Amino acid sequence: MTDRYGRTIDYVRIAVTSACNLRCSYCLREEHDESKSGSTQLDVERIGTFIRLLAEMGIRKIRFTGGEPLLRRDIARLVRIAKTTPGIDNVKLTTNGVLLDRYLDELIEAGLDGINLSLDTLDAEKFKAIARRDQFPKVRKALDMLLQTPSLRLKINTLMLRGINNDEIPAFVELGRDHDLTVRFMELQPFDDRQIWRTGRFMGAEMIREHLYRAYPQLEAVTGLDTEHYSFRLPGYRGSVAIIPAYSRNFCSRCSRLRITADGKLISCLYQQESIDLMPLTENSNGDEELRKKILDAVSRKPKDGLKNGTNNAVTSMSQIGG
Ligand code: SAM
Repeated sequence: MTDRYGRTIDYVRIAVTSACNLRCSYCLREEHDESKSGSTQLDVERIGTFIRLLAEMGIRKIRFTGGEPLLRRDIARLVRIAKTTPGIDNVKLTTNGVLLDRYLDELIEAGLDGINLSLDTLDAEKFKAIARRDQFPKVRKALDMLLQTPSLRLKINTLMLRGINNDEIPAFVELGRDHDLTVRFMELQPFDDRQIWRTGRFMGAEMIREHLYRAYPQLEAVTGLDTEHYSFRLPGYRGSVAIIPAYSRNFCSRCSRLRITADGKLISCLYQQESIDLMPLTENSNGDEELRKKILDAVSRKPKDGLKNGTNNAVTSMSQIGG
């Protein structure tokens, strides 16, 4: 699939649940109550249908995200379905790692290609303050397990919060000394209804880069993925380091992705309010044809650039839309 700006669309992120077992202050409110606000979850059959159709239309890469995807007991089944869908060649998962020890073996067996582990701090107390849950030991265990599993491509996503975790940049970089992983320092995005990003915690890509160079003057810039505006290697280190300017964004021209939210809406850009509800079509006898049309419609309407210096008021948390 190609959109009207000539971009090939071959990547879909699917939020498989809106529920989460952490309450990161920049993402979810403490009082976010899944049972009251009605946590949503697409069923396996619908996800399988979406993946099959998307693959027929040229999608090659699937990422399961959420909410927290490991809150689904059938997560390995979803990975297997995606992995065995003709056309799909890459299936990955974004997780906070709290439940990873329970599922890692199953996920590997199902054919998972890689994991992005969201981890903002290596300090248990800070973890408790940021995530509002005392789960650091489990996440640290997940990290250690992944470090011992070289068959899974590992990326660590670290959201930079000025004055909170910027002093930990070297500690994260050091994880790549002996391990072939990528540590990615991310900019905060304005998708939280508490607007933490307006409270001076935002740390832009340039500032992250300065901190990195101060700690590692020997950094060598290399070409990274499209979203990894700055990508670096360090002499003697097996891993690499990247900065993702998720907010200041300069990679829209190379964006290849669509998103499906946990309640079955198709979104072509994080910064576009518009979404297409796929759910009614899955109950329709002519569903496949209708779904194809809607997917093409979303691709054709994919904006050239997301809203600059703005936010998407329809999105109050990344957990809703799938980070
Ligand atoms: N629960 C999974 C996890 O923690 O990786 C997947 C969903 S979570 C919403 C995905 C990513 O979104 C996490 O890495 C998190 O740091 C990021 N995220 C959440 N809110 C954000 C915000 N306001 N700005 C930037 N990233 C955000």
